[in-house]
Amino acid sequence: MSNILIRNGRLVTATDDYVADIFIANETIQLIGKNLAVSAERVLDASGLLVFPGGIDPHVHLQYPQGPNRIVSSDDWLTGTIAAACGGTTTVIDFVEAKPGESFLRAFEARLAEAADAVIDFGFHLAFNRADDTALAEIPTMLDAGITSFKIYMAYDNIRLNDREMLVALQTLKTHGGLPIIHAEDHDVIVTLVVQHIAQGHTEPRWHPFTRPIAGEADATVRALTYAEIVDVPMHIVHVSTARGMQAIRKARARGVRATGEVCTQHLLLTDTLYDQPIAQAAKYVMAPPLRPEADTRAMWDGLREGILDFVVTDHCPFTMAQRLGKRRTPEFRKLPSGIVTNPPEPAWSDDVPAFNRMPGGAPGIETRVPLMFHFGVNAGKLSLNQFVNVTSTAAAKLYGLYQRKGTLAPGADADIVLFDPTREVTITAQALHQNCDYTPYEGMRVRGWVHTVLVRGNVIVEEGRFVGKPGIGKYLGRKTKDE
Ligand SMILES: [Zn+2]
Repeated sequence: MSNILIRNGRLVTATDDYVADIFIANETIQLIGKNLAVSAERVLDASGLLVFPGGIDPHVHLQYPQGPNRIVSSDDWLTGTIAAACGGTTTVIDFVEAKPGESFLRAFEARLAEAADAVIDFGFHLAFNRADDTALAEIPTMLDAGITSFKIYMAYDNIRLNDREMLVALQTLKTHGGLPIIHAEDHDVIVTLVVQHIAQGHTEPRWHPFTRPIAGEADATVRALTYAEIVDVPMHIVHVSTARGMQAIRKARARGVRATGEVCTQHLLLTDTLYDQPIAQAAKYVMAPPLRPEADTRAMWDGLREGILDFVVTDHCPFTMAQRLGKRRTPEFRKLPSGIVTNPPEPAWSDDVPAFNRMPGGAPGIETRVPLMFHFGVNAGKLSLNQFVNVTSTAAAKLYGLYQRKGTLAPGADADIVLFDPTREVTITAQALHQNCDYTPYEGMRVRGWVHTVLVRGNVIVEEGRFVGKPGIGKYLGRKTKDE
């Protein structure tokens, strides 16, 4: 498709709100104006629709072999990016995680090859999972490869850095200009509490949140931001789930630390009462950080509105119920466009239902983020339309070096555009979603407002809610640091 005219939409960006036409050619927005006098090969009538810059979800885990059992998250790069597109997201940032002994560069090249079928654009963070001299020396190479953000896990054996290593990693990132992004939970607290609970026979998922206490997140967040202050480096905190974690960001900013934070959809909309259910239900909510009490979810909304939390992500890391309950390592694919189930049955990886600490952790959400934020944010009066666009797209583009190519509607920007029907009412069901997962944490929620049409660099890939694109349209987004 070489050129497209979008007529009469109500264009909403993080700052503007006006009715205009958009003319697209060569994958980018060429012109924006009222009643544009241009002829186009295709005209999309956006009367009555909202027109947003495509959503950006900068925290997802597609096709991710998690933990010592290497259970692979159930969306691959095709199903996961189709789901994202159908939910109004046109860019994701996923992770490169080197295996023991593997160089970061090699891991990057392998990940890039895995992503070949992506239907939306994508970038990577690097999991900074070692801080030996070889690893530190590879940071400039990763920056050259377009990876400018580096995830440091304070929790999880094998991939975490201890405090001394974190400090050295931050110094290295300061030297080269990379952005540290931090999973802030207290490792020793978690490990100790998990061992104690399991020893007492507390194996059901209902015990999971007790092993990852609010105070542990708060303490780790304070510590990470203190290190940022000592090293004088900017720092982003991923998946803030508690009021206390958020306050740590607010206080660090007041001291001059360049701190940012993100919140996941699930920590805005779901609470820890969901753990008080039988195993097969509660297992859906084994994720880190865990779901929190309602007071914390309310605080997350306040933080978002006040800008202490900069944007909304999903941490999309789906596992099917068979995977969660120990019946499979690899996912069963039910929803490939071909309709073919590709993975044969395999032996269960666990004889019994695994204890909560051995279940794969994470939740699906890549497809529902934008509509949920529209409904529970804009319709509920918690966010303005401009704020909604900012937290689902623009703010992430700015932090991660994608603005103004992504995250806005302006001449010269990539034509990543969502036409959104604010009146369409949808009841969310796993059955109707495109993500490859047999449940959604948002099952049964009724929302008003749904994605109508989606363009990725001028390619129409979703039409009236149906995926019509082709595998491989998505491109790798090499990013640059601000100094370059
Ligand atoms: Zn994550």
